[in-house]
Amino acid sequence: MIVIRSAARMAAVARRLEREGKRIGFVPTMGALHEGHCSLIRAAAARHDMVIVSVFVNPLQFGPREDFARYPRPFGRDRRLARAAGADLLFAPPARELYPPGFQTAVEVGPLARRWEGSARPGHFRGVATVVAVLFELTRPTTVYVGQKDYQQALIVGQLIRDLRLPIRLRVQPTVREPGGLAMSSRNAYLSAAERRQALALFHALRAARARIRAGERRPGRIAALMRGLIRAKAGVRLEYAAAVDARTLEPPRRLRGRVALLGAVRVGRTRLIDNLLVGVP
Ligand code: AMP
Repeated sequence: MIVIRSAARMAAVARRLEREGKRIGFVPTMGALHEGHCSLIRAAAARHDMVIVSVFVNPLQFGPREDFARYPRPFGRDRRLARAAGADLLFAPPARELYPPGFQTAVEVGPLARRWEGSARPGHFRGVATVVAVLFELTRPTTVYVGQKDYQQALIVGQLIRDLRLPIRLRVQPTVREPGGLAMSSRNAYLSAAERRQALALFHALRAARARIRAGERRPGRIAALMRGLIRAKAGVRLEYAAAVDARTLEPPRRLRGRVALLGAVRVGRTRLIDNLLVGVP
């Protein structure tokens, strides 16, 4: 596995691979890799000649009061895990390589980016869409692999690809969970043992909501109230949002039908966590 730090070198290598007709699978990450990331890398390795993994803690997608400075950056470990999962190339640029002095363009996605994570984290999706657009241009992927864990982000990347007519296929891979059900996240490293147990309240609420829908409930307000009640009842967990929405638009429908996304965000201590489940409503 080769490690590239320079944007110019990354672009040159990707263009050479393109000329050689290689199919490139791309896995963008912020590092602190875990089994969720590795599942994306393995999925890419199974279907592509070449797997590029990027590790970049993107300053544009963090708010001023968020955890950019303390976000974990275990580079040696990331390198080992990426290689073991099947990455051929690790692109780990310093910020000035992606955003050189004078950089002033942003990519803004519309309504899909407004609610949920978009309103809880103003500017977050502008930062995500901007870095993704730059990374796509540098790595020239055939297919990009993202996790359902960040469901709204996955929809936004899909929208960006469609709107900009990028010749890139999007694959959304299932959320990888800890044995107890907690969705794997680099931010789980912030949690104490007690907080890990508390954090499960989010997954349990999503699961209870899914069961209630499967049992016939079709009123999104009732499902949201169920999730909110379960989360609020758990000491140490603060609810940010919980909702049952249309899985394509992320808008709350009048009645649940088709594909429904159950979305939730909580705070446990200083740590912010998100999770979701998709449910098919017959
Ligand atoms: P991040 O490093 O958090 O920016 O995540 C990089 C990619 O890994 C994104 O596409 C995430 O959705 C995906 N990802 C993160 N956690 C998981 C997980 N538990 N299961 C599957 N994919 C994940």
